[in-house]
Amino acid sequence: MTMMLGVSLAGRDVLMVGGGAVAARRLRRFLVEGARVRIVAPEVHADIAAVVDRGEAQWIERPFLPADLDGAWLVHTATGDTRVDREVADRCEDARVLCINATDGGHGSARLSAQAEIGDVIVGVTSTAGADPRRSVAVRDAIVDLVGEGRLPLRRHRAPRSGRVDLVGGGPGPLDLMTVRARRLIAEADVLVMDRLGPGPEIVQGLAADVEVIDVGKAPGRHPVPQAEINRLIVDRALAGLRVVRLKGGDPFVFGRGGEEMQACLTAGVAVAVTPGISSAVAVPQAAGIPVTHRGTSGAFHVVNGQGEIAQSTLRAMADDAVTTIVLMGVAALPRLVAKALAQGAPEDRPVAFVESGHTPQQRTTRTTLRHAVRDAEAVGLQNPAVIVIGDVADEGLLLPLPIPKETANA
Ligand code: SAH
Repeated sequence: MTMMLGVSLAGRDVLMVGGGAVAARRLRRFLVEGARVRIVAPEVHADIAAVVDRGEAQWIERPFLPADLDGAWLVHTATGDTRVDREVADRCEDARVLCINATDGGHGSARLSAQAEIGDVIVGVTSTAGADPRRSVAVRDAIVDLVGEGRLPLRRHRAPRSGRVDLVGGGPGPLDLMTVRARRLIAEADVLVMDRLGPGPEIVQGLAADVEVIDVGKAPGRHPVPQAEINRLIVDRALAGLRVVRLKGGDPFVFGRGGEEMQACLTAGVAVAVTPGISSAVAVPQAAGIPVTHRGTSGAFHVVNGQGEIAQSTLRAMADDAVTTIVLMGVAALPRLVAKALAQGAPEDRPVAFVESGHTPQQRTTRTTLRHAVRDAEAVGLQNPAVIVIGDVADEGLLLPLPIPKETANA
């Protein structure tokens, strides 16, 4: 019979008998827990010696003596000699000290579990039968994978429920382009505040019915919920003790107004953290096979919001053939951008690509040049959301093998 127990080793004495490779691995784990570790062994693994040299554990250089148990809360024995490990385990039994017997798990009174920390939840896996660490690790990993799929019910139901806000990047849309941390935080959330872009709509389907969902979705020229209102909303919910996830398309700090929301939280004294996401600035060109930098073609990229004034830095970027200019929210501004770029001396044949609805089934790429960009945008009916790429990396043939010369092809 085995009962799992969450034990705090911080500041407590742990005795390790034996100093080989197994002990070296376990030592690391005990130290992470904050235990005070003594190692009794005639010789030790190089990793243990290094830890001892740094003063993080104590090494007693001799074989085990029964008096070593004095003061220990927990003993770990891994001498590689079954007889010695059994003797240590037996002594522990007499002294009523829990003992992990690494050589002979069935003979010790305690065993380690394969463990994972998922936010503030700890999952441990062990078995009642003989030790099978690889199986325990596999089961543990499968549980961790469920977090990545958003399938663990991680919401808190008991105090302390201190409110907080997480600004979470959702990436360009598909669920499997979100981070595991994003999925965990959403699974823990009491309130989800989401946008039009990104994975929001699909995420909502998997939420418990009592999770409050607030759609503050913005479309260009249509601002249903003003930013100040969003700030107030997330702060108020957090102050009421709720866990708020502010889910955004792409990355929260790339034209996502995440900075303003963070300021609002900090000003109100609300705990706030950011989880990065895959930004459309890089991922949407990539979805169309466009690398934003490419050795020998483009050594920098300039990401700009197409709305508003066109800055000098953007004009310079568009005229510089070593720079890729990436325009978000730029569909309406395209004619203005192109006119300014040409006026600035950018060549008319500079490649341009429009990538609409990147990473979705509706993805569409249009290749053109500065000269024909406006005409082609009209011809295809270019629509938001789209990323506009200006620069040599947008050339259709960039990543293709060199064309076969005509004579050879005909031969
Ligand atoms: N924080 C986001 C950007 C928000 S601004 C990020 O890091 O990705 C919104 C703009 O992002 C849109 O106007 C469009 O230019 C771009 N965008 C976002 N998702 C997109 C997608 N799937 N396909 C094309 N463009 C996208």
